[in-house]
Amino acid sequence: MAGNEEICRASGEVLIENYGRLPYAMVRGEGAKIWDADGKEYIDFFPGFGACGVAGHCHPKIVEAVKAQADRLLSHGNLFTSEPQVKLAEAITRKAFGGKVFYCHSGAEANEAAIKLVRLAAGPGKYKIISFNNCFHGRTMGGLSLTPESFQKGFEPMLPGNVKVDYGDIEAVRKAVDAETAGIFVEPIQAEGGMNFPTVEFMQALRALCDEKNILLVCDEVWTAPARTGKWFAYQHFGIEPDVMTLAKAVGGGLPVGVCVASEKYANVLGPGTHGCTMGGNPLCAAAGVATMELIEAEGLCVRAEANGVGILARLAAEDIPCIADVRGVGMMVGLVLDKATSAKDVMMKCLDRGLIVCVAKNNVLRLVPPLTIENDLLARGMDILVEVLKNPDA
Ligand SMILES: *Cc1c(COP(=O)(O)O)cnc(C)c1O
Repeated sequence: MAGNEEICRASGEVLIENYGRLPYAMVRGEGAKIWDADGKEYIDFFPGFGACGVAGHCHPKIVEAVKAQADRLLSHGNLFTSEPQVKLAEAITRKAFGGKVFYCHSGAEANEAAIKLVRLAAGPGKYKIISFNNCFHGRTMGGLSLTPESFQKGFEPMLPGNVKVDYGDIEAVRKAVDAETAGIFVEPIQAEGGMNFPTVEFMQALRALCDEKNILLVCDEVWTAPARTGKWFAYQHFGIEPDVMTLAKAVGGGLPVGVCVASEKYANVLGPGTHGCTMGGNPLCAAAGVATMELIEAEGLCVRAEANGVGILARLAAEDIPCIADVRGVGMMVGLVLDKATSAKDVMMKCLDRGLIVCVAKNNVLRLVPPLTIENDLLARGMDILVEVLKNPDA
């Protein structure tokens, strides 16, 4: 079998270099472990860039569900439906705020659906969408329009009417709302933007403002759900409900599933012919989603996420690590802000070398987002590697 070098050299010839890939090819995964093509084992605190966030790699329950579905039916087209897509929608809406769902394959597509839904719901002349500095809503032209300018270079012009204000600044939001505003997109925790946590007051004030102005509140939970923060959905920390919620990444258990959930009030806005996605909700991916939601319930992963998050924070607090400027975390969504002298990217590479996968976010932040099912000994071993690297940043 080919090794890292051979596969990566070949990939350079045929894969567009939009990702800045690392020189490792992955061949196998099991829970919180993954192996590269040279046989090196890694503990994965960033499984599948979030896609395997619930149960890590190849959880037997998810694999079993996918295999069984693969033997029956892969796609049926959306003139029809199937049991897996119904079951997944039931699982999501029952744990969230009722309503109905639209399926696609990615976070960006889920946000595109949400943008269209918001515009249709708001009606003619209302097209402006407010989003937040340091947010991330995806790479398609709509999602990109909502995302900060640093991602937009060379792709302008963006959608008209996107307005950005500071995360947490309710007065700025209030000032930004006018007669043409259709809605507000917010991540209940900003992930890519540096693991930023809003206050309860801010999120509640956003909800109240949307009610007052009769505009829609969209929570982008592509990173924060399901169960990642110790609740099924992160908005549930704030005592509010959004009008629309978008999901992707972990909800598919490693297969591509994007979901746009509309509350009952807005559940029929996207009527026949208004939107679509050929393979959205195909039974294979939906079956993986159903198995993922069942695992969260069966294994009590919300509770486990909360407990493990507390454990990670306690471990970090017990160590004397001078290069950590701040630690922020809810459940298994933890961000370490490093001081200016220490590069988060360097730390990430050193961890990788020692067999631990972590990732960085904006503003010199390290992200720790292990699979929710991670075994205690693997979590501890991963933390040992991280602590050792952080204590010797110049080694
Ligand atoms: C990753 C992410 C997206 C984009 O998801 P894709 O599946 O890559 O299109 C959108 N919003 C948030 C909050 C994300 O973290």
